[in-house]
Amino acid sequence: MTRFTDIYLRRVFKTIEKNRLVENSDRIFVALSGGKDSASCLYCVKRFADERNIDCEIKGFYINLDDSPEVREPIKSLVEKLDIELIEIEPPDIRKYRGSRPICSVCGIVKRYLMNKIPREKGATKIATGHNMDDFIVFFLKNLVGKNYSWISNFKPKVESTHPKLLTRIRPLFNVGNREDERFCEEMKIPYTKKHICRFKARECSYNRKRDNWYSTLYEIEKWNKSFRQQMISAIEDVSTLFKKEEDLKECSICGEPSNKEICAYCRIFGDASGGI
Ligand SMILES: [Zn+2]
Repeated sequence: MTRFTDIYLRRVFKTIEKNRLVENSDRIFVALSGGKDSASCLYCVKRFADERNIDCEIKGFYINLDDSPEVREPIKSLVEKLDIELIEIEPPDIRKYRGSRPICSVCGIVKRYLMNKIPREKGATKIATGHNMDDFIVFFLKNLVGKNYSWISNFKPKVESTHPKLLTRIRPLFNVGNREDERFCEEMKIPYTKKHICRFKARECSYNRKRDNWYSTLYEIEKWNKSFRQQMISAIEDVSTLFKKEEDLKECSICGEPSNKEICAYCRIFGDASGGI
């Protein structure tokens, strides 16, 4: 361990402990993408449970969007290294989608849907994702300027279930950012891919480029205000409690999964009636 990895790990452990992200009798599925964030997330959750002697099950969960070996291989070596079972699934081919939604939006809907449904069916109590501090600051700013205030209530380390079929979502990396996650993986020799994970990026949309601009803006500010991101994330966590999610979850009339509409977004994409896939 170096001074950096020690501080990083303590910060993540504090987030886990304070928010009770990992507890006895939990069955936690950690969503893996091949990237640095989810790799570090799995490593930290496993290490926390081991060091604190917590009696819980931890599994890796991977939605394989026909990914290249560069993405798949680090996931395989990570779960092997940590001695963790990997649940891998292949979703319907979203490239066949001919509707009007941008491909990134379709991809996001498919992932969010399966990330809740499959782990729940396999007995999970919680789903952990590698969303980090920088992601939440950027989401926050975008939602603020877009006046989508209801989302802000979700910007916290733990989002409790509001429906029997909805898993509690946990974000152990809530207080560390992109650069820290990358450095931690490098120094701890945690396998991850440096390749851009979104395989639709190049030809489909400007979403990723815009997102990169947001991230570099955060680091620009940090050049003259060293604790900017720390201060922001702490403020966001406070503010998130002031917003209520206007959510009246029902069950989708086609698939039975939780949805705020009669037919869920996944079924609207893949259903015959909507002219989807
Ligand atoms: Zn549905």
